[in-house]
Amino acid sequence: MASSVTAQSVLEKISVDHLECSICTNRFRQPKLLDCLHSFCLQCLQKLRQSQDPSGTKLTCPLCRRETMLKGSGVADLPNNFAFSALVEEVTMQEKLLEGQGSEIKCQNCKEENQAISRCMDCDHFLCQECQKAHERMTVINSHKICTLAQLQSGEIVYKSKIREEVPKCGKHPDQNLNVYCNTCEQVICLMCTVLYHEKPNHSCVGLPEAFEKSKKKVEKLVAKVGQSKTELNTTIEKTCISRKKLDTMFANTKKKISTKADQEVAKIRQEEQKLLKETDRIYQERITTFKAAQATNSKEVTQTEHKLEEVKQLMNQASCYEILELQQKLLHNLSELTGKQPEQVPDKLTFMDFEEGERSLGRLTLEEEPKVKGPSHRTKPNSEDGI
Ligand SMILES: [Zn+2]
Ligand SMILES: [Zn+2]
Ligand SMILES: [Zn+2]
Ligand SMILES: [Zn+2]
Ligand SMILES: [Zn+2]
Ligand SMILES: [Zn+2]
Repeated sequence: MASSVTAQSVLEKISVDHLECSICTNRFRQPKLLDCLHSFCLQCLQKLRQSQDPSGTKLTCPLCRRETMLKGSGVADLPNNFAFSALVEEVTMQEKLLEGQGSEIKCQNCKEENQAISRCMDCDHFLCQECQKAHERMTVINSHKICTLAQLQSGEIVYKSKIREEVPKCGKHPDQNLNVYCNTCEQVICLMCTVLYHEKPNHSCVGLPEAFEKSKKKVEKLVAKVGQSKTELNTTIEKTCISRKKLDTMFANTKKKISTKADQEVAKIRQEEQKLLKETDRIYQERITTFKAAQATNSKEVTQTEHKLEEVKQLMNQASCYEILELQQKLLHNLSELTGKQPEQVPDKLTFMDFEEGERSLGRLTLEEEPKVKGPSHRTKPNSEDGI
């Protein structure tokens, strides 16, 4: 099966997709070239024209939307893509050789539909056994190069489409080959045309090889330039990629910095919070001690006063008027001592405790009510607060 592998590799070398018309998705039949260099079958383009604007002089490429001007007999006058035609023929032939291993190929020399066994490369025909023998017998054509189907299948001899060797004829002089190039008209012409329509000194004509060399150089130069543009584009893409990566890094770092700083601030504020809470606790406990002491002292005084009052009451109830009169001085002294007692007061300011929010720090404790300043100076800019 080594032969089929080789034939297969020939097929693989040619991208088969490239040989498909994107309108009908079949292999090209009579491919025509549009100005944008896209190719489609002649028939497909004719249908396309009918669907676009049958009377118009323009055709819009269905692939890239670029327009091609039509002239003369319309789509039929568009340049042929002979290279694609040849490739389609060669690929189709390779497939035929591969599929049937030659068995399906008929003789193209006689009308007997015999199985072909070889091919004459000069006549460009497949030959049956009979025709091959006949070919070899005739002196006029026995110099023809004949190769076997096996040679073609193995890739030892590569099938080349005859289209590649065809020399196109002049449209005005059908018996004349196109073999002159008029630089002035940028046109391939025949010798007759050179004499008839492209005379010196108004026209400058050269032979095809010279014109071809020149054209190739022009194309090569532009291809190189386009290559440079492509390189520039790629360089820009790479640069943009690097810039993007840099931005991504900076983005991530910025977010990290924000979070780190926030964490630090939060920790700092928690520390402040702890400090302030501790301080508040301490002051509270201190005040509570004062409150408790005052309450205790006053309670004791109340008890003592009650005892005294009780004693006085009992004396007044039970003692005789002599005794009372005799004790009068002591009684009055004891009572007036009680009236002079001042209750222990806890200062009002010890009740007050507040927190004032800070702008840069958490804030501070305020332990005394700040005197409210009254007056117009304090109310000069009310809008800055209320206006929002
Ligand atoms: Zn097509
Ligand atoms: Zn196009
Ligand atoms: Zn034959
Ligand atoms: Zn031949
Ligand atoms: Zn001509
Ligand atoms: Zn000319």
